[in-house]
Amino acid sequence: AAKAAGRDCFRWFDWPMDKRQEEAMEVRKMLENALDRGHLLLHYQPVVEIDNGPIGVEALLRLDHPERGLLSPAAFASALDAPRLARRIGCFVLASAFAQAQTWHRQGLPLRVSVNIGAHHLLDQRFLADLQAALDAHPDLPPSSVEIEITETAPLLDFAVAQDTLAACNRLGVRIALDDFGTGNASLTYLQKLPAQTIKIDQSFVRDIINDPKDYAIVTGVVASARLLGLEVIAEGVETTEHAVLLSHLRCHCLQGYAIARPMAPEAIPDWIIRYNPLVNNGFSTPPPPP
Ligand code: C2E
Ligand code: MG
Ligand code: MG
Ligand code: MG
Repeated sequence: AAKAAGRDCFRWFDWPMDKRQEEAMEVRKMLENALDRGHLLLHYQPVVEIDNGPIGVEALLRLDHPERGLLSPAAFASALDAPRLARRIGCFVLASAFAQAQTWHRQGLPLRVSVNIGAHHLLDQRFLADLQAALDAHPDLPPSSVEIEITETAPLLDFAVAQDTLAACNRLGVRIALDDFGTGNASLTYLQKLPAQTIKIDQSFVRDIINDPKDYAIVTGVVASARLLGLEVIAEGVETTEHAVLLSHLRCHCLQGYAIARPMAPEAIPDWIIRYNPLVNNGFSTPPPPP
């Protein structure tokens, strides 16, 4: 068949590559358009401390597409951290999330706001100036109420720069969270060497803790390690009351997930907080048996 295709046979290998590159370009264009036209927005998902109730929110990016409606990052993930777009998106997210959080602080709702920062923005030499500028523009938002969430990607690309940048964030008073913890291939090194205040246990470990002894063991170990290191630990993907009860007995500090609240428009947050009812009454129930 290769012979029959003659000198055009290389296309057979080239074509699928082109297709993928084309799709990636389409997604980048869509995101660029959305930036230009103001079609990006943030939804916010509450984070609750088991012992104290709501403490903060995570800002999650949404794209309001003229035809396809509200899109989640899954629809444009490939372009989120494109070197050319990462910084524009990061600056939008910092400005928008800080403005919203400052409004809440002025209303007497001193929520912490967590923002996801892509690797290429974190490693950009302008990142600290971008962060400082966003903080300066919102003087009623204390830097200690800001948290930057990073995944393993940035330290994997350039460990030294990531380390220095995160240390500088801490010096500004900004908190660091290690997002999707456990999924990277150097998580324990990050725990050892990066200046973080929070660990967010990835939802893939939390999902089956009720039934899977391995996941139960891993989450138990991560929570215990976090506490020994003096770090705050948040379980992501908490989807049921059973999850919440078990995590409470493991002494996990904070919960985030659909069982607590779905991500929502910022206008809905104050009402949600007023109506919040804890899923777990800490201390009085008998611990569930391990799987
Ligand atoms: P992430 O930072 O780990 O955010 C948590 C994701 O899990 C969110 O998806 C959230 O809606 C979802 N989630 C929350 N609770 C549950 C649950 O109980 N069950 C399940 N199955 N899922 C839950 P979302 O909003 O689609 O965001 C996906 C990812 O996109 C984020 O993962 C983050 O890596 C990225 N992302 C979101 N916003 C931004 C942003 O502003 N900048 C950058 N660079 N990345 C972002
Ligand atoms: Mg996150
Ligand atoms: Mg995560
Ligand atoms: Mg994630």
